[in-house]
Amino acid sequence: ELAAARKPITNHLAEVVDSVKDLDDGEVNDIGPHEVKGCGAAICTVDGHLYAAGDADQTFAIQSISKAFTYALALEERGHDWVDERINVEPSGEAFNEISLVGEPGRPANPLVNIGAIAACWCVPEERFPRILDFYERLAGRSLELDEEIYRAEGKSGSRNRALGWLLRWAEVIDEDPDDALDAYTRQCSVQVTAKDLAVMGATLANRGVQPVTGERLMSEEVAERVLSVMATCGMYDDAGEWMIRVGMPAKSGVGGGIVSAAPGQLGLGTFGPRLDKHGNSVRGTLISERLAHDFDLH
Ligand code: GLN
Repeated sequence: ELAAARKPITNHLAEVVDSVKDLDDGEVNDIGPHEVKGCGAAICTVDGHLYAAGDADQTFAIQSISKAFTYALALEERGHDWVDERINVEPSGEAFNEISLVGEPGRPANPLVNIGAIAACWCVPEERFPRILDFYERLAGRSLELDEEIYRAEGKSGSRNRALGWLLRWAEVIDEDPDDALDAYTRQCSVQVTAKDLAVMGATLANRGVQPVTGERLMSEEVAERVLSVMATCGMYDDAGEWMIRVGMPAKSGVGGGIVSAAPGQLGLGTFGPRLDKHGNSVRGTLISERLAHDFDLH
């Protein structure tokens, strides 16, 4: 009975993925040494049912999608007040790697641009990266691996991120040299996930912090609510307004080609397509999300 009920959703998902999988608009990011191909999508409902289509098991670097989850961990570990003193929650309307702080001497505009994400990494108590990885693994419900090649290949973006780290140090947002937080940030960006993982991770946010497959509470309701709010206003960088009009769900993209979206109280959606638009958001992932938001009335 259940299988029969699931089929129409799976079929619809497959049809949507098929309709965009051959589009070649956009550019693949220049961070990774190897080009990852494919196109896929997965949905995880808040009662833990998983539906997938296309290359939903293809791994790719989580990249900036990690920022939303590390922010959740920072809030869990330190509490809202402590984190708010260091990271604001206003959309910047700027590119993800903009070199800027707001106010005097300044805080990052939000935790989802690079400078705010590096600050959020710093907020996680040491051992930072092991703690972050453990949190992602609980969110995905399986063990995850770091892509060593991508970790080592950060190149240009690495230099720019180091500049952001030192700006945080200069403004006394962080009170020690940024090296460890920067390393944790670079590592977290290199963690490999699939569209299915993103669907489950998004569903945890949609499910008020309880991972719907394992049943484990990973964050308080307040933290899940906060993270979704910041994703809604800041998750798609300088495309956040357009995204909200087209898709209408809180979401977070990464230059690895993934996007996670969450329909609160309903489901998590993970999409994958490596070609990016000028904001660094997946072209096909955006189209899939838009189409599903419309068809399933998630906007
Ligand atoms: N690792 C990339 C960076 O730090 C992530 C950027 C992204 O996914 N938008 O610039």
